[in-house]
Amino acid sequence: MIVQMKSQCAKEDIEHVIEILDEANTQHFLIELSGIKMIEVFDFSHNLDIDRLKNSPMVERVVKKCTPYLAAKQDSTDETYQITLGEHATFGGKKLGIIAGPCSVETQGHLLEIAHAVSEAGAVALRGGTFKPRTSPYSFQGLGEAGLEMLALAGEETGLAIVTEVMGVEHIPLVSKYADALQIGSRNMHNSNLLLAVGQQAKPVLLKRGWSATLAEFLMAAEYIMLGGNRNVILCERGIRTFEEFTRNTLSLAVVPEIKRVSRLPIIADPSHGTGRRHLVAPMGNAAIACGADGLIIEVHRAPEQAWCDGDQSLSHQEFEAFMKSLPAFAEAAGRTL
Ligand code: PEP
Ligand code: MN
Repeated sequence: MIVQMKSQCAKEDIEHVIEILDEANTQHFLIELSGIKMIEVFDFSHNLDIDRLKNSPMVERVVKKCTPYLAAKQDSTDETYQITLGEHATFGGKKLGIIAGPCSVETQGHLLEIAHAVSEAGAVALRGGTFKPRTSPYSFQGLGEAGLEMLALAGEETGLAIVTEVMGVEHIPLVSKYADALQIGSRNMHNSNLLLAVGQQAKPVLLKRGWSATLAEFLMAAEYIMLGGNRNVILCERGIRTFEEFTRNTLSLAVVPEIKRVSRLPIIADPSHGTGRRHLVAPMGNAAIACGADGLIIEVHRAPEQAWCDGDQSLSHQEFEAFMKSLPAFAEAAGRTL
């Protein structure tokens, strides 16, 4: 089991816990992750009085090891956490949240056109990468801070909340200055230093599933974030890599109702990266809502064939508008509204 200490704990508080652990003849050692102090305990002889431990000063929690404790539903009546990006883009309630925008921020003019189009069609948040995780080092890597400024202006003009990716711990202060939510991309889902660091800042986090991560690994990544004190984590199923080749990834939608069963975190789906193919985005977006997703993140571009990246999976303004018109029927069937 793990005993997590409160962040303000003093040396004596840890010594007090260790005294209890020694009295019960347990084996234990101290773990320190990014300033968070925890004691791993092996109680092979079952002597330990767990309530005494829990009631000790400065003990934050006592958790059975390897359970996604912070994200978990304690019982079936526990509702999904409601998480708000910016002023009013809420995920996890009855109302669905739709995030839309280009794969990467290109120019201010393009971004404003897209932002207005997706806002008018009903999106509540604008996506767009300015630090881009690209497979090839020779591909466009994003505009960095200049792109963040463009996002902020588009957010101000339209009222959309801003969601953008942070790739490194060193960029967190910069990205969180402009963004309403920090996105952790699929490639970084296993980067525990980055997860801990976004857990120690205040902005909500959109955590995308690693493309080869199991459901348990996905939830454990969320646990790393929540351990730092930030419970505002929205999960995103974005497809996993399988032997199938006609889609870029395989959108693993069974994860959605399963996450709803075991966890209190909202979960959205990304049918753009989940399929890689424009004509599949709308049907898989509808399917995700039908099986209980709290929202979607969709790539939209003013001229997909001219996009600097991921044009093949981006919807045009007209396609996005048509998709948004198809959505209410699926939302209603799932007991949700738009
Ligand atoms: C993205 O959403 O911009 C992105 C790069 O997605 P993923 O991390 O899921 O590949
Ligand atoms: Mn993309």
